[in-house]
Amino acid sequence: MKSVYPQLLDGKALAQRIQDQLKTEVERLKSKYGRPPGLAVLMVGDNPASAAYVRNKERACAKVGIASFGQHFPADVSQSEIEKTIHRLNQDSNVDGILLQLPLPEHLNGVYLLHQIDPDKDVDGLHPLNLGRLVRGETGLRSCTPAGVMRLLREYQIDVNGKHAVVVGRSILVGKPMALMLLEADATVTVAHLRTQNLPELIRQADILITAAGCPNLITADQVKPNAIVIDVGINRVTDTQGKSRLVGDVDFAAVRDMTQFITPVPGGVGPMTVTMLLHNTLLSYQKQLRS
Ligand code: NAD
Repeated sequence: MKSVYPQLLDGKALAQRIQDQLKTEVERLKSKYGRPPGLAVLMVGDNPASAAYVRNKERACAKVGIASFGQHFPADVSQSEIEKTIHRLNQDSNVDGILLQLPLPEHLNGVYLLHQIDPDKDVDGLHPLNLGRLVRGETGLRSCTPAGVMRLLREYQIDVNGKHAVVVGRSILVGKPMALMLLEADATVTVAHLRTQNLPELIRQADILITAAGCPNLITADQVKPNAIVIDVGINRVTDTQGKSRLVGDVDFAAVRDMTQFITPVPGGVGPMTVTMLLHNTLLSYQKQLRS
């Protein structure tokens, strides 16, 4: 069925507008307080996808005037060396945000290391204190990807209040905080995952479908409710029959697009919003540090 109002949720354009505003604000605060906000992205090993994400983040920082204090460790770095680096960055008054790029090599305890980050510098919103604040509906640093989705929904004046939102995926990085943010905005939320038995049936009930599974073509046109709002967080690299590789989401975009009221493209939807929320969180931490 063709929708009357299919519209692309243009995360790339919105991210650009927010970054322009952040740049102006960073310039103003830098000339007032004498230093720019600082972000330290810590990366371990040579995972090419992680390296691309880190480059992206550092490039975005440079664009808005945030200073980068990132470090790149070899894959065999010890747990104590990263721990020491985090503790040093916690004390460094030029650093407002610390992000540990995941995934980490097997020998490192990611959960333990994330707990070492000062919650006031936890710009990825993954520290238990910030996740706990989200559960309680208190102010705190929010996970970047779900925060980016909420910002995108607000920008397009999509009211989630009372709507049935189905979130596919239950990771700490995306699915769980996404569900909590939707609840906070008064949606009725269902969370589905790999063990969910009636996924197509649930998807068909979604006024708002948010998918973060990492599975190309998981969501097909026959499953989507006509005029639904579809947010595709998934990022998957696929190779076509000619051997050309490209990025796709979890949704069969070409088939689903025309049935929806709003839909995010991949790339150019949620991805640019994630990076922008990281910059936004770094600015929030900086402002908090200046006040304290
Ligand atoms: P993850 O592997 O930690 O979690 C995936 C979740 O999806 C799990 O809870 C799993 O149960 C569920 N799942 C997987 N296959 C499923 C299936 N067939 N049916 C139902 N549920 C299924 O991954 P993650 O870190 O949450 O990331 C999810 C996806 O989002 C990945 O593609 C990742 O690259 C992407 N991502 C995008 C951004 C962005 O900025 N756009 C940010 C983070 C992650």
